[in-house]
Amino acid sequence: MRTTTVIVGAGHAGLAMSRCLTERSIDHVILERGEVANSWKTERWDSLRLLTPNWQSRLPGYGYEGDDPDGYRTMPETIAFIERYAEVIAAPVRTNTKVTSVRLEAGRYTVRTDQGEWQSRTVVLATGACNIPQIPALAEAVPSTIATLTPIQYRNPAQLADGGVLVVGASATGVQIADEIHRCGRPVTLAVGAHIRAPRVYRGRDIEWWMDAAGILDERYDAIEDINRARNVPSLQLAGYPDRRSVDLNSLTAIGVKLVGRLAGIRDGKAQFSGSLMNQVARSDLKMNRLLDTIDEWAAGSGIDGEVAASHRFEPTRVEASPPLSMNLGSGEIRTIIWATGFRPDYCWLDTPVLDRKGRIRHDGGVVDAPGMYLMGMQFMRRRKSALMDGAGNDARDLSAHLASYLDGQGAGSRRARGPSSRQNHLPDIATP
Ligand SMILES: Cc1cc2nc3c(=O)[nH]c(=O)nc-3n(C[C@H](O)[C@H](O)[C@H](O)COP(=O)(O)OP(=O)(O)OC[C@H]3O[C@@H](n4cnc5c(N)ncnc54)[C@H](O)[C@@H]3O)c2cc1C
Repeated sequence: MRTTTVIVGAGHAGLAMSRCLTERSIDHVILERGEVANSWKTERWDSLRLLTPNWQSRLPGYGYEGDDPDGYRTMPETIAFIERYAEVIAAPVRTNTKVTSVRLEAGRYTVRTDQGEWQSRTVVLATGACNIPQIPALAEAVPSTIATLTPIQYRNPAQLADGGVLVVGASATGVQIADEIHRCGRPVTLAVGAHIRAPRVYRGRDIEWWMDAAGILDERYDAIEDINRARNVPSLQLAGYPDRRSVDLNSLTAIGVKLVGRLAGIRDGKAQFSGSLMNQVARSDLKMNRLLDTIDEWAAGSGIDGEVAASHRFEPTRVEASPPLSMNLGSGEIRTIIWATGFRPDYCWLDTPVLDRKGRIRHDGGVVDAPGMYLMGMQFMRRRKSALMDGAGNDARDLSAHLASYLDGQGAGSRRARGPSSRQNHLPDIATP
């Protein structure tokens, strides 16, 4: 089978690219190993809500028009939102089609799948940034009496054995899971490494509203001094709770969660924690205050100061002066460990030599280091918001323009889809709850 562009992955990023290619009459197909919105259907825990407000899921030609723009979508709502997008843009998705190899041969891509082979001139990799949970090597030393879970395996507290839980990692995933499990009656210890504290609401507005309005989320990859570092910054400590409460280390200790430093090693059945907890939280408070300073400066400069609540600062994070530096994992106190230590993409199926020595794709703002290959949905790929739903639109517009000129440069008279309907070419903008 032949097409001009193969998009791999039918999450919101692949769909946003599809919509932009359709607008340009570029013939394409989306190959998806599961169903549309597969990651949200199969890899998220039950109670998860988006931490971005409803208004902040603007996709090309599609957005939120319900009566709760400041609310946070549940998983079923998120899935329905993405499924509806695929429907209204008439996305050419082939579901249950797993891509097993992408190879560049004589200027064309051969895309092998478990449902046959495709030939294309261009490929868009939209397979997501969070395919594989990152588990530290020290996990191998966890005693066999303790169950271990990744956030992709975790569904709800009922699935855990009675008894204590050690959650490793205190970014968005770790703090939300720690909060939920502790509230359900299992005592939680949280191992805290580098993290970024952020209030849900500041000066009466959602923190995401501030970062959007002040242009922070639109910062470009080529305007950042150390982009590799920026791409590895952990997610903000945020949750989309309906009551808009913040989740941070203070809120967790207030309900009884015990904080320890970063899990640094496991020896002879003993977990060893770094003594840097105090420094970690001080650094995190400092970063939060810098963010709030930037917001305040923008508010003063933009004339919005009078419309919002007064500037203020939050109570510093409280930690014990001498938190425990070790814990006997054989004592029965801890029955489960959850690795909330981040995610990484999976490119084991990609046979094009575009990975660097750390296994990351070599690309310049999503233009991959292979002719006609593009990337979507990675952390800070073109903009700070690239991995968020709200970031896919601008990235897809930029990269589809690049892809179109790449095809034109190749004299690709054939790039126009044969007879795309005018309905597909001039899709109306859609708003949906
Ligand atoms: C816990 C968590 C919470 C998040 N919360 C938010 C939030 O509140 N707001 C927000 O904007 N973003 C959030 N994100 C980030 C981001 O929106 C998601 O990671 C999102 O799923 C990324 O969209 P995507 O389209 O790039 O990738 P995905 O949604 O992961 O889509 C990739 C698709 O590719 C398919 N695929 C993978 N490999 C293959 C293959 N070999 N062949 C065929 N198909 C393949 C997958 O099945 C999947 O459907 C969150 C992420 C996580 C992990």
